[in-house]
Amino acid sequence: MSAISFESLQILWQKRPFIISGPCSAETEGQLRETAFLLRDTNRVDLLRAGIWKPRTKPGLFEGVGVKGLAWLEQVSKETGLPTTVEVANTKQVEEALKHNVSVLWVGARTTVNPFSVQELADALRGVKIPVLIKNPISPDLDLWTGAVERIAGAGIELIGLIHRGFSTFGETGYRNNPLWQLAIEMHLRHPDLLFLTDPSHICGRRDIIPQTIQRAIDLGSDGLMIESHCDPDQAWSDAAQQLTPTQLKQIFEEIIWRKVDSPSSQYHTALDALRREINQYDEEVLQILSRRMQVAEKIGQYKQEHQITILQTARWQELSRRVLEKSERLGLSTTFLTQFLAAIHMESITHQKRVLDQLQKKPSFEKENS
Ligand code: PEP
Ligand code: MN
Repeated sequence: MSAISFESLQILWQKRPFIISGPCSAETEGQLRETAFLLRDTNRVDLLRAGIWKPRTKPGLFEGVGVKGLAWLEQVSKETGLPTTVEVANTKQVEEALKHNVSVLWVGARTTVNPFSVQELADALRGVKIPVLIKNPISPDLDLWTGAVERIAGAGIELIGLIHRGFSTFGETGYRNNPLWQLAIEMHLRHPDLLFLTDPSHICGRRDIIPQTIQRAIDLGSDGLMIESHCDPDQAWSDAAQQLTPTQLKQIFEEIIWRKVDSPSSQYHTALDALRREINQYDEEVLQILSRRMQVAEKIGQYKQEHQITILQTARWQELSRRVLEKSERLGLSTTFLTQFLAAIHMESITHQKRVLDQLQKKPSFEKENS
């Protein structure tokens, strides 16, 4: 039996911050036990993780200890009282994990990316009462991630959580896996009822930037973390550079500002409501102004049509962009934002001008038909 009932897991699912920690891989029974006891003693950890089968980019790297690691994990769970979670990638692994009373299963990034594998897991889980965490696919594709959620939910799994572990993108970003925070936020917004965790270990790939990454995740509304911890990180058989000792973990957790989703203070709510009303007002004004701006663009479209001028005039657009971007600092708006904003406005403007042009071009034949 799992160290904790499904009903208790349902309650645990509501805890904030929800913390999963443990080594990247189970290596030896001793390493697992020592790490687990140290983690339990931090009083911060809700679930013990350990990789049993390791999906490695290249063959020949440590590929996990396999089933015998599950027996160690089961034993250590009994000794520490910590419920456990492991990664599963196929039917056999699901069966083995269930046999060894693992409390929560997780789907790894290299599995989420493949609908065949996710469907295989979903089929293996049909009728099983166990929570499942789904890591984002390696590629930045929210539909693929959502597809995995739908397949697992379709198998009748009631408790599902998401884990943001960063994405593979082209070029050097300073991270092992580019966090692309805006995608994580979008996914969280698409699935507001699912537990949303962040995995700073696989995002960072190195210890030194983990604290600031955790703070960023918490500030952006993450419900908690899956974070790797090892009793002797430098000697770890996988992901040595990103693992932290349980003591380091405890210290980082003490320094993090854990933000709450809400506050009971009425003063806070009154102030927030006023500020939100102010934002709503500004949004309304921005939209009105944008609408008027597009009406002017349509008039320009009309003139261009009358004088047989092309819609796209590169020199004019370059001059306009330069003028706006020069103001970036004074406005306190980043050039990245202004560039994207201008590009969106430009696209919309062209659409409006094109519509005017199409209408005007249709007119003569229309008139002919009716005359
Ligand atoms: C892991 O958590 O050990 C792991 C392999 O992660 P990911 O699937 O995010 O690469
Ligand atoms: Mn790892």
